[in-house]
Amino acid sequence: MHPSHRAAATLANTPRLVRFTRMLHAVRLGLYTIGAGTALWLGYRSVQVLNPPQPAGPPSLRPSARPRLVVCGTGWASHALLRSLDPRLCDVVLISDRNHFVYTPLLPSASVGSVELRSIVVPARELLARLQRRWWHWPQLLTESGQAVPATEWSFINARVEDVDPLTKQVHCSAVHGGARFSVPYDVAVLAVGSGTNDGGFPAVRSCCHALRSAEDARAIRSALNDALEGAAEPSTSAEERHRLLQFVVVGAGPSGCEIAAELHDFLHEDARRLFPRSLLDDVCVTIVQSGATVLNGFEKRIAEYATEKFRRDGIQLLLNHRVVDVTSDALTVMDKFSQEAQTLPFGVCIWTAGLAMHPLIRRVAERLGAQAQSNRYALVVNHHLGVVGDPHRALYAAGDCSTLQSAATQSHLDKLFQLADIDGDGRIHVYEFLRFIRIVRDEYPQLAEFVSMIEPDFHEGQSSINREQFQKWLVKVDEHSTALPPTAQVAFQQGRYLGRLLNERFRCWPAGFDELEAGLYPPFEWRNLGAAAYLGNSVSVLQFPFMDPLYGNVAFWLWYGYSLLHLFSWRSRFLVMIDFVKTRVLGRDISKF
Ligand SMILES: Cc1cc2nc3c(=O)[nH]c(=O)nc-3n(C[C@H](O)[C@H](O)[C@H](O)COP(=O)(O)OP(=O)(O)OC[C@H]3O[C@@H](n4cnc5c(N)ncnc54)[C@H](O)[C@@H]3O)c2cc1C
Repeated sequence: MHPSHRAAATLANTPRLVRFTRMLHAVRLGLYTIGAGTALWLGYRSVQVLNPPQPAGPPSLRPSARPRLVVCGTGWASHALLRSLDPRLCDVVLISDRNHFVYTPLLPSASVGSVELRSIVVPARELLARLQRRWWHWPQLLTESGQAVPATEWSFINARVEDVDPLTKQVHCSAVHGGARFSVPYDVAVLAVGSGTNDGGFPAVRSCCHALRSAEDARAIRSALNDALEGAAEPSTSAEERHRLLQFVVVGAGPSGCEIAAELHDFLHEDARRLFPRSLLDDVCVTIVQSGATVLNGFEKRIAEYATEKFRRDGIQLLLNHRVVDVTSDALTVMDKFSQEAQTLPFGVCIWTAGLAMHPLIRRVAERLGAQAQSNRYALVVNHHLGVVGDPHRALYAAGDCSTLQSAATQSHLDKLFQLADIDGDGRIHVYEFLRFIRIVRDEYPQLAEFVSMIEPDFHEGQSSINREQFQKWLVKVDEHSTALPPTAQVAFQQGRYLGRLLNERFRCWPAGFDELEAGLYPPFEWRNLGAAAYLGNSVSVLQFPFMDPLYGNVAFWLWYGYSLLHLFSWRSRFLVMIDFVKTRVLGRDISKF
């Protein structure tokens, strides 16, 4: 065809092409609209299903045909328990004095503003609603043999549990708002109220020092830090007072103590240095007081030494082998364990992380069950199905920091342990034998490593060895004062998950007895040690694994951070913590106080 003819033909086709293109656009637009509409509808339906209509009134506490599970506490153990529970099998009443779950490993970061508190908490009601309507239960919730399954009732009560009566199966509570007292009957109850703070016998600790156990504690520490720095920067403040205000003391060098000291150091060197007068910061000092010879002494020796060395390099003052002997509103008196020399440490902010104590509620329940069943001075003794020992109805369970396993009592393994320690078989344990023994049993009996200080006086009183009787007395003391497993989120989580699965079995055959399952069909609880971690400042962490060499440094930090992100309680928290991380790195921490 002649080129002029071809051009003419193209022109003639143009309106058809245009029409075709317009039609394509219209079809595409239609498809987009339908897609967006479907997505909106699906989202709306999901929200509807995920958020069931709220009950018309407060939770009904009348007897019901379904078993009622009462869970006390909104911590790690109860979170894992609720996650593993089949929501179709029982009514749940969650009772806690805190109306949220908090991700404790990031509390030290929240105390200095590296992450915001709201990023690491999840409201209890939101979590309950989400867990009750998990998508993999939808088909069963909607139809079972053609009929809708009546929805179970999961409710939350913001109250303090004052007492539990295992005889009448009642939980006695006082409302957080108004203090009214009421009781909740249970078919099965789980105690997961954590532990109390060990004030070391100094009542002033509660009023003058900060604990680091909850979101409130983290907020109080952040506020106290700001007050101390602003107070020190005031022109009217005397030099002596300024010096005091800028002393930050951490008592206890376990993982929480080390992490808060590291976070304090990061905050003071990264943000306070940028925003406060330089002359002021010459006085700043972070001090760790620790009764043992290293920091992180529950970890492997290599890690403990690495952390000690790192803190020294960073200028954190370490008072190792020092005991606190007095606490006042603005100073601690500490004494060197060997030279017996005392010194006074004035402080602007003191954070007390030295050990845990028995929760008052747990003490009350233990007293009700009698000293024969409950001999531990720290936690409720539970059997290998986490049932509370001595409970007449076998309906009370305990998990997490407030419980300890019965048959892991070290004194029941006296023969085995003594043989292991007495290498030369002369019937006495020498210092070198004892140190080797602790290294060997650290993984299986972490509580022995933790309470070495209880046997130290026996070695010091002019002896280089101890006999079997002294060794046995020490085991008895350790059993009384410790839990068989370390008081960590990892243990609490595994126990909560185990208990959730066990209770599913129990509720499936409800109201039949549970004896067959407990008698051996259901496997006992076994703790799997997945390792431990601690943050040491400047994006450096240490990771200890049971199956490989430890990791140190930045790589360990990124692994620790990734693991924390994965284990946060919600996607919202994961998103917010990531934003906080970037914000802190790029813009610094927010030091304003409201
Ligand atoms: C700062 C910090 C950092 C930590 N970091 C780690 C870590 O990195 N890894 C790790 O494994 N572990 C860590 N832990 C330890 C871990 O947080 C605890 O072992 C874990 O929280 C124990 O879980 P739990 O469920 O037994 O008790 P908790 O989590 O303490 O929960 C107890 C719940 O019971 C509620 N409660 C208490 N008393 C009552 C009452 N009378 N009535 C009603 N409710 C009550 C509390 O409000 C709370 O909701 C850390 C702890 C702290 C404090």
